[in-house]
Amino acid sequence: MSTKVLIIGTGLGGLSTALRLSSKGYEVEMVEKYHQAGGRLNLLEKDGFKFDMAPTFFSMSYEFEELIKDCKIDMPFEFVELDPLYSVHFEGDKRSYLIYKNLKKLAIEFQQIEPDFEKKIEKFLKAAGEIFHDTEDIVIRRNFDSLTQYLFKLSTVPIKHAPKMFRSMWAEMERNFESFEVKVIFSLVGFFLGATPFDTPAVYTLLNYTEMVHDGYHNVKGGMYKIVEGILKELDKQQVKIHYNTEITSFSSEDGKVSSFSDSCGKEWKADQFVVNADAAWFRGAIMKRAAFSERKLDAKKWTLAPLTIYLGLDIKVPDMYHHNYFLRRNFKEYAEKIFKNKIKLDKPYYYVNIQSMHNPDYAPPGKESIFILCPVPDLRYKPDWSDDHQIADGIIQDLSERTGFDFRKHTETRVILNPEQWQKMFGLYRGSGLGLAHDLNQVGGFRPKNKDETFKNLYYVGASTVPGTGLPMTVISSRLVTERIQKDNGTLSQK
Ligand SMILES: Cc1cc2nc3c(=O)[nH]c(=O)nc-3n(C[C@H](O)[C@H](O)[C@H](O)COP(=O)(O)OP(=O)(O)OC[C@H]3O[C@@H](n4cnc5c(N)ncnc54)[C@H](O)[C@@H]3O)c2cc1C
Repeated sequence: MSTKVLIIGTGLGGLSTALRLSSKGYEVEMVEKYHQAGGRLNLLEKDGFKFDMAPTFFSMSYEFEELIKDCKIDMPFEFVELDPLYSVHFEGDKRSYLIYKNLKKLAIEFQQIEPDFEKKIEKFLKAAGEIFHDTEDIVIRRNFDSLTQYLFKLSTVPIKHAPKMFRSMWAEMERNFESFEVKVIFSLVGFFLGATPFDTPAVYTLLNYTEMVHDGYHNVKGGMYKIVEGILKELDKQQVKIHYNTEITSFSSEDGKVSSFSDSCGKEWKADQFVVNADAAWFRGAIMKRAAFSERKLDAKKWTLAPLTIYLGLDIKVPDMYHHNYFLRRNFKEYAEKIFKNKIKLDKPYYYVNIQSMHNPDYAPPGKESIFILCPVPDLRYKPDWSDDHQIADGIIQDLSERTGFDFRKHTETRVILNPEQWQKMFGLYRGSGLGLAHDLNQVGGFRPKNKDETFKNLYYVGASTVPGTGLPMTVISSRLVTERIQKDNGTLSQK
């Protein structure tokens, strides 16, 4: 008899867990509060334009290869490697910098501002690569049964990396580079972790290695949502049923096990095992009523910035812009230190622009363009009122037009703006935080909310706020870790 698993949430974490478990003989059913699958990895369609709603590229593509191999299926989507990775514009600077993986080409970009760049970056990336390879299997790609086990494993990381636990990422930049621009560009990864380069430990320069050397960044041919569509097709073959517009609000338990979850209409959902893909910290507090995850306790944790996202359908093509573009300013330290707590005005923000139809022609009608703008902003703890979202968006579009010499406003045919309140409502993101719990050293590994419940032996978690962390490849790793737990607890089932 097969074991029935109910997965709550169809984000990439939930979908890839469903794929692994169904391919191993489990009977899987899924419930999702939104009207379609994907969670943050979603698709928006308006007036003939399509937009990837949030993720626009990813690193560590081999984690998808591992998923597909584990499930014994063919890759249901096609990667496109990015090179250059992205372009960076600084306010007041006429030129922009293209970030090539090829270090010789990259050195030409920085030859005016950073003497001996090639030698310096080679040294920097070599050290970053050593940290990556010395920690990946020890800390990132494995389950821990206890904090002691985690700390023990951590102690096996070569001691030579220890100073980088205590030095900031920015300090590491200062040791390696002279120019402001180079230091800023290579410390941007700090924000992906939910902190600033000034308070992110230098060990996380390993991310520079993953983007520049190890595997780079990838897009998906036809748009990021092809990942979701591809997995859904496979789940359909495995007869996995998905119920949309179904929000889980409570649970029942019996003999140390969850017996069912109930949705907002009162319908009961029963299974033998349950996997929660909703935020692992929020769910424990709001649904499982755990005191350790009360709103007060969650608010005291560190969360990644929230998204203010703008989607523009333009009536013509944008000339002379790369696919992925960062627009930065010169008050980097002040901005980084104040943005999280809403202590700086949002009239001159930092933002990212993605020309989505450049590589995915069917994202816009012929001759037109679909644009995505992401502005990381304070979460709802620090900025609860978003009645000024259109005003902030207007300022960004004006700034972008001035800096590129192309009038985005004049050519806008359709536009959608999503603020952190809406992001919270759509996918249950705690306080609107875009990437979930931050990755401070006291919120990763054995310190992050576990993927196995503390009380109920048939309840598990997968996704950005449990182990190992946030981002698409991390949620795919998370699906492997939770699947291993379920298999270990239940005995390995035979392949279908
Ligand atoms: C603006 C933005 C840009 C990003 N860009 C990138 C990028 O370029 N590259 C990258 O690698 N990562 C990026 N990320 C991060 C990435 O999107 C996430 O780390 C990843 O998608 C998280 O997947 P998940 O499965 O953990 O959670 P989610 O995608 O949040 O899925 C959780 C699902 O659970 C559902 N759910 C929640 N509560 C309930 C409930 N009570 N009942 C039923 N269902 C429920 C939600 O509706 C959702 O569908 C970005 C994120 C944002 C917000």
